[in-house]
Amino acid sequence: MHAPIEEIFNSIQGEGPYVGCRQVFVRFEQCQLHCAYCDTPESRTITGSCSIERTPGKGDFYLIKNPVGKEVIEDLIHKLWTPSTRHVSLTGGEPLIHADFIKALDLEFPLYLETNSGFPEKARKLCDRIAIASCDIKLPEHESTDHYGELLKDELNTISILNETSDTFVKIVVLPGTSAQSIEAAVEGIASIDRTIPLVLQPVTQKTPGKFFQTQEAKQGASNLFELMDFAGQKLKDVRVIPQTHKMMGLL
Ligand code: SF4
Repeated sequence: MHAPIEEIFNSIQGEGPYVGCRQVFVRFEQCQLHCAYCDTPESRTITGSCSIERTPGKGDFYLIKNPVGKEVIEDLIHKLWTPSTRHVSLTGGEPLIHADFIKALDLEFPLYLETNSGFPEKARKLCDRIAIASCDIKLPEHESTDHYGELLKDELNTISILNETSDTFVKIVVLPGTSAQSIEAAVEGIASIDRTIPLVLQPVTQKTPGKFFQTQEAKQGASNLFELMDFAGQKLKDVRVIPQTHKMMGLL
């Protein structure tokens, strides 16, 4: 079996409740969405080569041909594993597009899935293999799809399925203009599944350290975060704001 992979490397998780954990990242290619804020646009389409980090954490990449075979991926993950590494992060693009490939991987390491939550039937196939699930819910202003209602329904179904067997949390990217009204359907949907599922509000993060909180627009965005937290906190028990810390540290 083969899958199109953008890159494989070892780094530190920069998002969500597992921020700071060392992981081997496998970034799959292909995505069915087109989010306006996408920070990995190169992984949305299939390319002819895959970047492999030679030494864990060093960023010394070389290229191999795409698609990459299952045994090659398994071998590369083992080579990039270090004593402090805790999970294999399956990210993208959208990794669930490759659910059959992931299911076939023979790995003893805990799998951490980062998904846009758009494929409930594929999540069902894979759920018993996933230790931790980071599930996005997109907002209308993300411009991810022309069929927002259908996507939200799929996202909530995916979260419900993964929450049965995996340590699951939801991530919503917050833009400076995001309002309580625009997160309302997502918050109610999560609450209808399980009020204890953690919700991470992730302010869209600039690559320049500190820039998000320096501009006037950003200051308004920061004060908006308190309102969004309290709004979501009326329905959910665990609401947190966590920015993308890997960008602050200049990591991959
Ligand atoms: S789901 Fe992720 S990879 Fe796909 S377009 Fe949105 S941000 Fe980019």
